[in-house]
This record gives sequence, structure tokens and C-alpha cells, in this order.
Amino acid sequence: MTYDAIIVGGSYAGLSAGLPLARARRRVLVIDEGIRRNRFAEHSHGFLTQDGEKPGAIAGKARAQLMAYPTVDWIDGRADKARKEGEGFIVSVEGKDMAGKALVLATGVKDHLPKIPGLQERWGRSVFHCPYCHGYELNQGAVGVIAVSPASLHHGLMLPDWGPTTLLLNGAFQPDGEARGELSRRGTRIEESPIHSIGGHADVHLQDGRTLSFAGLFTMPRTEIGSPIAEELGCALEDGPMGPFIRTDETKQTSIAGVFACGDAARAAGSVALAVGDGAMAGTAAHRFLMFGAF
Ligand SMILES: Cc1cc2nc3c(=O)[nH]c(=O)nc-3n(C[C@H](O)[C@H](O)[C@H](O)COP(=O)(O)OP(=O)(O)OC[C@H]3O[C@@H](n4cnc5c(N)ncnc54)[C@H](O)[C@@H]3O)c2cc1C
Repeated sequence: MTYDAIIVGGSYAGLSAGLPLARARRRVLVIDEGIRRNRFAEHSHGFLTQDGEKPGAIAGKARAQLMAYPTVDWIDGRADKARKEGEGFIVSVEGKDMAGKALVLATGVKDHLPKIPGLQERWGRSVFHCPYCHGYELNQGAVGVIAVSPASLHHGLMLPDWGPTTLLLNGAFQPDGEARGELSRRGTRIEESPIHSIGGHADVHLQDGRTLSFAGLFTMPRTEIGSPIAEELGCALEDGPMGPFIRTDETKQTSIAGVFACGDAARAAGSVALAVGDGAMAGTAAHRFLMFGAF
């Protein structure tokens, strides 16, 4: 059986892409291994009607609504490989080949966190990357930014809107005079001593023996696209400040006709709301491709 569309990744972006295809009565297969990026967080913020909801509850409700359409199938598992074959694509899932006329890649990204003892355990609880997602809940308490590269300057300049901010350089980079001036104008303190470890709620133990306590910490993980499938297919990638992402046009089609990409895998920085918007665009564009072919 050849599906009209195979969607790799069944979280916010993939589920959203599935909806317009299902509503056009197309045969859709969603393949998902269930490792959402925000699985570490108790609550998700900033997505209309779902502000403060549990991340898994939003995805679970979306999945139930999509699976109510009789033309949608679901496989729990990892899509290992994909290749172009004839007019369509073959995706192999744990050794089994599935055929589709169009492909939607909604694989999200994997976060590679700075290797600081105590940080991983606090990821999504008291260490975050997105101030809009988790900054409000810190109630204007003290914020620490753990620098990973010169891009962390951006965090150091933004976070004062959420609370008095300290930029912990941790040897990642040295701001020049101009950057130091900008940080000072925003009221951001600079801490030069390297970090030894993180303990308590968000207590930063410095190598010089001092401990700085914060309401919350922010850092910028390096990101990796959730699956190498896009590269294997030959889709063009772009470099973002945190890692590569899949290049798409404004309809979310990749550089390969018939392959669409959406969500965190296909933008420099993402959110649930943006993933859902991207997914809706990718799903409708995949349907247009099925109706009229490549533009
Ligand atoms: C700690 C933390 C907290 C966050 N909090 C918020 C918040 O409060 N508000 C907000 O808007 N955003 C938040 N985000 C960002 C949000 O998680 C992402 O923007 C969003 O999950 C992107 O959705 P997505 O569908 O693109 O990818 P994901 O939700 O990451 O889903 C990708 C899916 O694809 C699957 N997959 C990948 N490769 C394969 C494969 N080869 N085969 C099968 N399945 C595959 C994965 O297992 C996963 O289920 C947070 C992120 C983090 C890290």
C-alpha cells in the first residue's frame, strides 16, 4: 500500500501537518518514536488555549483528534532511513519498508547541553533555554545565564526583562568593550569565575568556592536535527546560531520536491505555536503537491 503522505515525527509539528491531509481524506502514515523535546518540562507556556498545560497532554489530545480520522495510521517506532524511489519515497521503520508519495519531516531537534555537573538533571525544571516559555514563572527573581558561546550575549541582554541577570562566562567567550557596555546598560552583571557544578534549585557553585543562588538559569544548548533522514535524502541544510536546520521555502517544502519539513527541525529557533503553524503549512503544501505536483 502506498500512502499519500508519510510524516516522520508525531509531535506538535507532525500532528499539525497530518490534520489538513486527513481532512482532505488522504491516506497518511505517522511514524513517531515519542521523544519530544520538551519532555523534561512540567508545563508548556505561550501556546494559545493551552498556556500552562502539560506538554504531553497537548500532544496527547492532538494525537487523539488526528487519529479519529479513519485514513490515518500510526506506527510507534523510529524511521531509520528514507530514499527516493520512482515518483515517491520509501521510509524504513525498524526493517519494514513503507511507501509514500510525499514526505513530511517533523523530527524536531536533540539538545546537547553544556557538560556541567548537575545541569542535565535540572533541564526544564530550573534550567531553561527560552525566556518566553519559562521566564515569567521565575517571578522576577535572580536569573543566571550560563554562556556557551558569543551567542549567549543575546541571552545576557534579553534576560533582564525577566529578572536581575548575571552572565556566567564560564570561559565560553570574552565580551569585548562594546558588548560589556551593552550588558552594563541592561544592568547585567558579569561573572568570570568558571562553574564547578550546579546544586539545590539553581545554585551555581563556582570554582573559586563561592555559590550564587538563582530563581532560574538559562543556557543555549547546541542542537542536532532529530534524524539524519533529511541529509540522506539530500535536503539542503542551513546553519542557525544553535545548530543546523532543514532549509525550506515559504510553503515548508525542502530543496527536494515532495519532501516537506516543519517544526524545530526546520527553523533556527522554535516553539510549540511555531511548530503547529509550520505543520499546518507543510500539510497543506504536501496536499497541494499531491494534487498538482511540484511547482
Ligand atoms: C526544556 C524545554 C522546555 C520547553 N518549553 C516550551 C514551552 O513552554 N513552550 C513552547 O512553546 N515551547 C517549549 N519548548 C520548545 C518545544 O519543545 C519545541 O519547540 C517543540 O517541541 C517543537 O515541536 P516539534 O514537533 O518540531 O518537535 P518535537 O516536539 O521535539 O517532536 C519531534 C518528534 O519526532 C520524533 N522523531 C524524531 N526522529 C524520528 C524518527 N527518525 N522516527 C520517528 N520519530 C522521530 C521524536 O521522537 C518526537 O516525538 C521547550 C523545549 C525544551 C527543551
